[in-house]
Amino acid sequence: MAGKKTAAVLLAGGHGSRMRSKTPKQFLLLAGHTVLWHALKALSESEIDEIVLVTPRGEAETLLREYREDQGFHKLIAATEGGAERCDSVFAGLTALRKRGTELVFIHDAARPFVSQELLTRMRDAGERYGAAVPVLPVKDTIKLGNAEGFVADTPPRALLFAAQTPQVFSYAEICAAYEAYDRARKAEDARALLATDDAQVMERFGACPVKLVGGEEQNQKLTTPEDMARAELWLKSRELRH
Ligand code: C5P
Repeated sequence: MAGKKTAAVLLAGGHGSRMRSKTPKQFLLLAGHTVLWHALKALSESEIDEIVLVTPRGEAETLLREYREDQGFHKLIAATEGGAERCDSVFAGLTALRKRGTELVFIHDAARPFVSQELLTRMRDAGERYGAAVPVLPVKDTIKLGNAEGFVADTPPRALLFAAQTPQVFSYAEICAAYEAYDRARKAEDARALLATDDAQVMERFGACPVKLVGGEEQNQKLTTPEDMARAELWLKSRELRH
């Protein structure tokens, strides 16, 4: 039996101000290729049928040509411009898939170039089974909830706390419905107060599917600072030595 028609929204529309570099982090080089190239390679080698790339403003056409025609990523079917916030970029990516008959969608940060095929398979299985799934790692530190005055407001029990990664996987119809409800709420209320930094959050608050927690992986950390880039280079070298 054929699986569900699956697409990925690959987010590369951010500016990456924490990287202290003019070039957004997804376009920095790791072992001779952009961070985005590594993420695109991982998604292309999986069972995902189609990929939509979300790009910075004015770069959709150039990047589609570069990665699809020049680099040969044929699963890349479209590129679309992102928005001011990550959630605006996700909305643009989901909209670009509207007429493709997508049943299951992966939403992935291009700044996480080392997602493994094993994790992609685990996420696909959980997405098919539950309709919404997020990869997570247990947190190592005790997490404090701060208040506006700079004091601790609460200390949630660590055993129940997890750091969320991507790719997050959803039923396409369910995540679109959740994002549409979220979009309406942002227009009606204080958009900044409602800012969602991941997609599971949109499903939790505006969608119908409980989100399943799935074990993530250390190597799939988001590259955010120059120190993360240095660690990623080392990790790539040690992987080469292992193979
Ligand atoms: O900024 P943050 O680290 O949360 O970004 C996570 C991913 O989302 C990155 O791959 C980034 O390029 C993307 N993003 C985007 N559009 C934005 C902000 C971030 O596509 N407006």
